Amino acid sequence: ALTAGIVGLPNVGKSTLFNAITKAGAEAANYPFATIDPNVGMVEVPDARLQRLTELVEPKKTVPTTFEFTDIAGIVKGASKGEGLGNKFLSHIRQVDAICHVVRCFDDENITHVDGKVDPLSDIETINLELVLADLESVEKRHARIAKIAKTKDKEAVAELAILDKIKPVLEAGKSARSIEFTEEELPIVKSLFLLTTKPVLYVANVSEEEVVEGTNQPYVKLVAEFAASENSEVIVICARAEEEIAELDEEEKTEFLEAMGIAESGLDQLIRSAYHLLGLATYFTAGVKEVRAWTFRQGMRAPQAAGVIHTDFERGFIRAETVSFADLDALGTMQAVKESGKLRSEGKNYVVQDGDIMEFLFNV
Ligand code: GDP
Repeated sequence: ALTAGIVGLPNVGKSTLFNAITKAGAEAANYPFATIDPNVGMVEVPDARLQRLTELVEPKKTVPTTFEFTDIAGIVKGASKGEGLGNKFLSHIRQVDAICHVVRCFDDENITHVDGKVDPLSDIETINLELVLADLESVEKRHARIAKIAKTKDKEAVAELAILDKIKPVLEAGKSARSIEFTEEELPIVKSLFLLTTKPVLYVANVSEEEVVEGTNQPYVKLVAEFAASENSEVIVICARAEEEIAELDEEEKTEFLEAMGIAESGLDQLIRSAYHLLGLATYFTAGVKEVRAWTFRQGMRAPQAAGVIHTDFERGFIRAETVSFADLDALGTMQAVKESGKLRSEGKNYVVQDGDIMEFLFNV
């Protein structure tokens, strides 16, 4: 499964956020085959459509889809110099698909800041610089090797060299490679370089409970948001401490708590949804009387692959899928009405599954 890694300097609220994630954690009984790793927190993806489907279909059971966050501990400063723990930090980042970078945006005299004062931009730079330096080392090595091959006019090597030449000066200037706009043709080559600073990032601004309501107008958050925009990233405003409490409340209490804070949706829920979309993930549903369930697939997947998310047999023996969009069922109210209106489609193996599709797969065993 795709995962987002939580990183940040010490004392910014990473553990608090990870605790909130663990407490909010997915109901284990629903996901018996899930991996158990203490550094991985599995959460259910909030989706209002699932609620509506449950009302319409009245199944015995409703199962949301899940998303995984990985807690990436380890020292940050000097990581690129290859000191033991630092190396581990980088190799853990290499394994995740996206980065949730927690940034301290709260003042609190009682909580020491590693650099002596709250300075979100400098914090971001500290971490990003380690990643930039690690990337620069890989790019330089690769450059030396590819430059030789490119001399033989090897087409692929020439193309890759051009990209390395584009990335190198940006890294040398201390900036992340994600700030570069690559063309469609360049992207697969960029991907093959496995750089750290091309991984998508969500900046998580951790603010005090009182300031969540200010959103990106909070002075520290404003700085983070401007920086994020400069490198095509997003920012989420969250109070990790409050999320830890919210995670233990039932739906009704949660709504009250959020109202008191002056926000419509919990920061954690926003974070889950944003990370999910950042990774190019989407949701389809299966809706039977026994179970209504949400499933995660990668945008662009065709019907057999998407069926394979449920079971490999579904992919192997795929015949076709009976499909209706959530919007159509929502508007028409019953499956009967959907059928009568001709909105139930029969789709074959080339169908590209859409977010919100309700699928019934027909397959040979
Ligand atoms: P980590 O080192 O990044 O994992 O940081 P922790 O999650 O351990 O948090 C460091 C300290 O900051 C703890 O004492 C937390 O309770 C506190 N903390 C976390 N979030 C907030 C917040 O939003 N406001 C305040 N005042 N303190 C917070």
